[in-house]
Amino acid sequence: MTRFNRIVIIPCFLLFCIFSISCKGTKDKIISKINTTTNQEKLDSLPLIPRHFLEQEKVSNGHCLLRGKGGNKLVALTFDDGPTNLSNKILNVLKKNSVKATFFWLGKNLAENREIISKAKKSGHQIANHSWDHTNGWNLDEQYIWEQQVAKTIEELKTVAGVQSKYYRPPFGGITQKQIDFLGSKGITTVLWSITTMDWDKTQNDGIDLENKFTSYLHPGAIVLMHDYDFGKSEQMLVALEKMIIYGKSQGYRFVTVEQIN
Ligand SMILES: [Zn+2]
Repeated sequence: MTRFNRIVIIPCFLLFCIFSISCKGTKDKIISKINTTTNQEKLDSLPLIPRHFLEQEKVSNGHCLLRGKGGNKLVALTFDDGPTNLSNKILNVLKKNSVKATFFWLGKNLAENREIISKAKKSGHQIANHSWDHTNGWNLDEQYIWEQQVAKTIEELKTVAGVQSKYYRPPFGGITQKQIDFLGSKGITTVLWSITTMDWDKTQNDGIDLENKFTSYLHPGAIVLMHDYDFGKSEQMLVALEKMIIYGKSQGYRFVTVEQIN
């Protein structure tokens, strides 16, 4: 080895090795940080829901629920706006796949749909409150919401369905903190959601769209918003519903009611 090699090349080579090792370490750390951040952000931000839901859940002392907290692989499918003829078809899909779900129904629809109600009850599904007539209560006085929408429907659920329910889902998810607290003082739990299939949005409610939202964002304790109201693509929705159930089961999830996920 020449003197030049000893003085210049060998130290340069050693420096290069040290630099490469340290760069690789840093790069691994950065990649690992990116992965962690992405997964964590997905979990925390629940990208399909309004930001204020998380805040409402945080400050509501258990009176506002948007997902189950146990960390178990449970998922609650929920259907709003019935009972309607579509509820019947949904009940058939749920029965075929042996899963339970929750129906948030309108007080005004109950009396004329007694058969559907009794079918849902026999299958062990949860029946809960989605207001009397789907009034958006965001700007309304809490006493009015309680009397004319929530309590009135509680009475109808008792009389017509023989169901006692303390779970209320506000129409459009529109509810103020003051209203949540007021209803909480009456023993009512406001139920929002952590995944929405956006099944009402005609620009993104093909069967494949619904399925993709479910499979992309499924997480332990997920409460999934759907509707037993026909937005025009109900046949596709029913096919997607079955695929969602099959996918969830393949990932080790158990389909439960909101009451059971809480
Ligand atoms: Zn609704």
